[in-house]
Amino acid sequence: MSELLDRTLGAYLGFAIGDALGATVEFMRPREIALQYGVHRDIIGGGWLKLAAGQVTDDTTMSLALGAALLQGGSTALQCFAEGDAALLRSIGDAYVGWLQSRPVDCGNTCRRGIRRYMLDGSLQGPFNPGDGGNGALMRNLPAVLATLNNESVFEALSLAQARLTHNHPASDAATLGLGRLLRLLLRGADQIALQQAVAQWVLENPGFRFTPYRERATAYVVDTVQTVLHFLTLHEDFEAALIATVNQGDDADTTGALLGMLAGARCGAAQLPQRWLDQLQTDTLQAVTEQTKGLLALSAASGPQPH
Ligand code: MN
Ligand code: MN
Repeated sequence: MSELLDRTLGAYLGFAIGDALGATVEFMRPREIALQYGVHRDIIGGGWLKLAAGQVTDDTTMSLALGAALLQGGSTALQCFAEGDAALLRSIGDAYVGWLQSRPVDCGNTCRRGIRRYMLDGSLQGPFNPGDGGNGALMRNLPAVLATLNNESVFEALSLAQARLTHNHPASDAATLGLGRLLRLLLRGADQIALQQAVAQWVLENPGFRFTPYRERATAYVVDTVQTVLHFLTLHEDFEAALIATVNQGDDADTTGALLGMLAGARCGAAQLPQRWLDQLQTDTLQAVTEQTKGLLALSAASGPQPH
């Protein structure tokens, strides 16, 4: 397996692992988690969604919907998008509609509102809304990053456009681009020093996301989410240690877990992911994520700058 495929697979599988592990303790306080589980460290399902063991939530299923739309459009749709055509965005909107109609186990309020608005009037973004600062657009952006690894400007345009389908808020935009850039960096094999430097630089440019001292808030507000993810990503170099610390912070634990799992999984690669967590994931998720990762990498390779 190539290093890029290993890291990319590590990111998407790490994302699904973090979602499935964190969902058990979503909306719990750290003290409640400690009382009930000691340290929560196994993918056992349950939680407020009463999940089956190994089941993932909206974070992963919505990402898979975005990834499927990108793969269906292929490099032609991506090229047309880069030239300003809205067809790809409409098919992403349609994919989110199909996802919502598939009765997912959960769906955030802002995502639901945005998808309904698209259904009603076909608009590709709503007006700025101070209530759109949730993490719902950030949480599903992974496939957009993978599809555009060879083209930074399309990465930026696609990430923002898919995000704005449901969330129109500067903090959501900044977080979606910021974590997307960190993911691109880690997929290229950046070491821990380069990661720390990139994180420090991004926080300098986006001081609202400063996470030292860590405020121990892990809510779905995108600033809290990003601070939690960056705090534990830079604190622990080990995938397992970083993810366990993140989800035991509770609150929006499936989403902080998924995003931490994505970045830490890209850092270590799929081969280094704990086998017990891979075994605990549902098989159909494992297969869908693996297939989609390969497809998106191929799309990325086909959509890069053409050699002259
Ligand atoms: Mn979720
Ligand atoms: Mn969540």
